[in-house]
Amino acid sequence: MNEKIWLSSPHMSGNEQFYIKEAFDSNWVAPLGPNVNGFETDIQKYLDNNIEVAALSSGTAALHLALILLGVEKDDEVLCQSKTFSASANPIVYQGATPIFVDSESDTWNICPEQLEYAIKDRISRGKKPKAIIAVHLYGMPYKVNKIREIANRFEIPIIEDSAEAFGSSFNNIKCGTFGDLSILSFNGNKIITTSGGGALVAKSKEVKDKAVFLSTQARDNAPHYQHSEIGYNYRMSNIVAGIGRGQMTVLDSHVSKRRNNYEFYKDVFKNCEEIVFLEEPDGFFSNRWLTCILLPNYKMREEIRLTLEKDNIESRPLWKPMHSQPVFKDAPSYLNGVSDDLFERGLCLPSGSNLTEPQLERVVSAINDYFATC
Ligand SMILES: *Cc1c(COP(=O)(O)O)cnc(C)c1O
Repeated sequence: MNEKIWLSSPHMSGNEQFYIKEAFDSNWVAPLGPNVNGFETDIQKYLDNNIEVAALSSGTAALHLALILLGVEKDDEVLCQSKTFSASANPIVYQGATPIFVDSESDTWNICPEQLEYAIKDRISRGKKPKAIIAVHLYGMPYKVNKIREIANRFEIPIIEDSAEAFGSSFNNIKCGTFGDLSILSFNGNKIITTSGGGALVAKSKEVKDKAVFLSTQARDNAPHYQHSEIGYNYRMSNIVAGIGRGQMTVLDSHVSKRRNNYEFYKDVFKNCEEIVFLEEPDGFFSNRWLTCILLPNYKMREEIRLTLEKDNIESRPLWKPMHSQPVFKDAPSYLNGVSDDLFERGLCLPSGSNLTEPQLERVVSAINDYFATC
């Protein structure tokens, strides 16, 4: 059997263990310490000096806290991009609120501005104004930042920007992770940088960051004994994990350029293959190309290619199955235009890690070429 080629695997820089050793040597083996503060500062410097970062145990935890900070409660409604990973939507349910799913547009695959506006008006006419909009930069491609912001401002609904897949992406030279009223990042094992597991909440003010840290550390009041006036969570990042993050920050931009090279490589190799369509960057959009995704003419071909790759021990994956089609969300109201279902039928994510070698990329290409030669 050929060696396994993964869709997106962890890629260490070699600098991580320095920070971990430092944590052990100074006995900062806890969910606070110099690496946590250092990692937050590194992210802040990378994104924008005017924002504030709270390092947390996961991107999902960051989304949950974002909803809490925006006051989302039982029976509220929250608009959410349907085409995404389930972690974007699950925290809405943690709060006892109802997700309202909104379909995608075909040029970015992200939340469709027209459907979003229609959904907001319809929810208001039914008697409830949505409490927040969760917009996602899927596979690293920014959503239509200006249009979504204009709609959100017009209806006075805050945006939670899910930038879990888009660390290193930007729109008009402004980094993704800074566009939401609150934004989130993820450092899970398959993301563009990883801390093994982890996430961050990005806020616009020190007050909001401090509140997030307070909630993430069990909401302890300022008293010598343990006193609580609010429900807290155990969502803070550990100082060991943050050490990995500090090492990973030294290679974030190089990971972005390697992943963008993967995309360019695939696109160039298949430039004469009419059956394979790539997602292009509209003007002003800069994707980290977390995953290179292709569209095939139909479901049958998509599956055949996926199985051809699997036979050669190469991992590929259909695009995210939209939330409105997930059994667990079957009763959620949805505003649909057919785009995300079509993408799910025809789309495939190709191996895209920043640690892929040229021979590995060649193997992926030759498996796909073999498929086309024989069909
Ligand atoms: C990975 C991911 C998350 C969740 O992040 P975790 O750190 O795994 O909890 C949320 N949204 C999207 C779009 C993701 O891809």
